[in-house]
Amino acid sequence: MPSPVICWFRQDLRLSDNPAWFAACSSGSPVIPIYILDDQNAKEWKIGEASCVWLHHSLEQLSQNMNGNLLCMTGKADRIIPDLIQRYGVKKIFWNRCYEPWRVNHDKIIKENLLTKNILIEDFNGSLLWEPWEIKKQDGTPYKVFTPYFRKGCLNAPPPREPLRQPKLPTFYPTSEQINKPNDLNLLPKTPRWDTPMMSFWTTGESAAQTALDTFLDKKLSGYKEGRNFPEHDQTSKLSPHLHFGEISPNQIWYKATEYGIKSGHNSDLDCFQSELAWREFSHSLLFYNPHLPTSPLNRKFENFNWADPDQQTLEKWQTGQTGYPIVDAGMRELWATGYMHNRVRMIVASFLIKDLRYHWRIGEDWFWNTLVDANLANNAVSWQWVAGCGADAAPYFRIFNPTTQSEKFDPLKNYIRKWAPDSHTLPPIVDHKKAREAALEAFKAIK
Ligand SMILES: Cc1cc2nc3c(=O)[nH]c(=O)nc-3n(C[C@H](O)[C@H](O)[C@H](O)COP(=O)(O)OP(=O)(O)OC[C@H]3O[C@@H](n4cnc5c(N)ncnc54)[C@H](O)[C@@H]3O)c2cc1C
Repeated sequence: MPSPVICWFRQDLRLSDNPAWFAACSSGSPVIPIYILDDQNAKEWKIGEASCVWLHHSLEQLSQNMNGNLLCMTGKADRIIPDLIQRYGVKKIFWNRCYEPWRVNHDKIIKENLLTKNILIEDFNGSLLWEPWEIKKQDGTPYKVFTPYFRKGCLNAPPPREPLRQPKLPTFYPTSEQINKPNDLNLLPKTPRWDTPMMSFWTTGESAAQTALDTFLDKKLSGYKEGRNFPEHDQTSKLSPHLHFGEISPNQIWYKATEYGIKSGHNSDLDCFQSELAWREFSHSLLFYNPHLPTSPLNRKFENFNWADPDQQTLEKWQTGQTGYPIVDAGMRELWATGYMHNRVRMIVASFLIKDLRYHWRIGEDWFWNTLVDANLANNAVSWQWVAGCGADAAPYFRIFNPTTQSEKFDPLKNYIRKWAPDSHTLPPIVDHKKAREAALEAFKAIK
C-alpha cells in the first residue's frame, strides 16, 4: 500500500465543506483521519464538561460517517503526530486552522518540527468566513469596533469562499492502534448521568446541523431581527454548538441564508443574521490579535477595578438560579438544564454577576466555559468583556442592566420565566439592585 496521509480533525467535525478533508481525499493516498484530545497543552482551557458531552456525540457521528475509521487519541498532539508519522511512513498531513492562542502556538511548534523531517503540511481556513488578517483597517491595523469591522471591512472584502462539495470516502489506511473509538476518550460523565436530560434538547452531528439551519431559514429567519431579542420566541438558530465544533461551516450558513433571504425578501432579517455571524468573526479576530483576552481586560484601566470578594454561597445562588431575580434565575436554570442560554438572557445574567454582585467577569466566563455546549474561547471572552465594559466596542458609559425592567421588556408575558423558574419570585433577592448599582458606579468612577 502507498504511504498514507493524515487528516487531523479539530473544530471541523464534518465531511462536507471541509477544506482539509477535501484535500486529503483528493490526494489519492490512503488516509488516516485522527482526532486528539489534548488537555495537557490546553491547560486551563481544556474543554468544559458540557462541551465534552457534545464532543463525544459529534465524534461518534463523524466516525460513523467514515465507517468507523476515525482514530481518536488522548495526549499531547506534538508527541502523537510525529509518532504516527514515523510509525506509518506518513509523508503529508492536512488540517484546518484554529485560533485559540494555545493552539496557534502549538501548531507553530508542530509545523517547525515536521518541516525539519521533510513532512509536507497543508493547512486551511475551515472555520471562519474571513481570516483575521484578511479584514484590517486601511492603515493595516485590526479593527477594534464591530460596526466598521463588519460594514467597511467584511462587506467590502472579497466574498467568503463558496462551500466545497463532500468528497467520496477515500481508502482508509489500516492502522494497528489499540485505542481508537470516540468512546475511549471517556468524555461522558460516569454517574450521575446528568448528560442524558441535557442532550434530550439536542441532536448532534453534521446532518443535524444542516437540518437545524434549514428549519431556522424556513421558520425563523422571517422576523429574526425583532424576534431574536425575546427568549420565549425561540427565534434564533441555535447553531452555536454546531458551529463551534464545526459540524457546519459558517460558509454553508452564509451562502444558504443569503440565497434564502434574498429569495424570500427578508433582507433586514438576513442582514441582522449575517451581522451576528460577523460578531463571531470579530470575536475570533480580537482573540487572534489579543491572545491575553480570555484572562485580562482589553481596557487596562479595569485591572484596578474594585471587585468584591466572592462569597461561595452567593455565587452558588447565581450558578443554580436562586437569586430571587426571576429572569436571572430562569436563564441560569436554562443553562443548567440544556447547556445553552438565550443571548439576551446571557447579557442579563452576566451583567447581574458583574455589576450587581461586582464579581470578576472571569468567574462568569469560567462558569459558562464549563456549562455551555457552545463554549467558545473567542465568543465567550469577548462577550464577557463586552458586558463588563472592559472589552472592545464597550458602551461609552458604564451599562448596568436592570434585571426587572429587562424582564418587563423582553419577557413581558413572563412565559420564559414560567418555563424555567416559576418559583423564583418567592425567593428573597440576594442583592438590592438599586444599592448594588450605586456601588458599581462608585467602583467605576474610581478607575475612570
Ligand atoms: C456573557 C456571554 C457569553 C457568551 N458565550 C458564548 C460562547 O461561549 N459561545 C458562543 O458561541 N457564543 C457565546 N455568546 C454569544 C451568543 O449569546 C451566542 O452565540 C448565541 O446566543 C447562540 O445562539 P444562536 O446560535 O441561536 O444564535 P443566532 O442568533 O442564531 O446567531 C447565529 C450565530 O452567530 C454567532 N453569534 C451570535 N451572537 C453572537 C455574539 N454576540 N458573539 C459572537 N457570536 C455570535 C453564533 O455563532 C451563532 O450561532 C455569549 C454571549 C454572552 C452575552
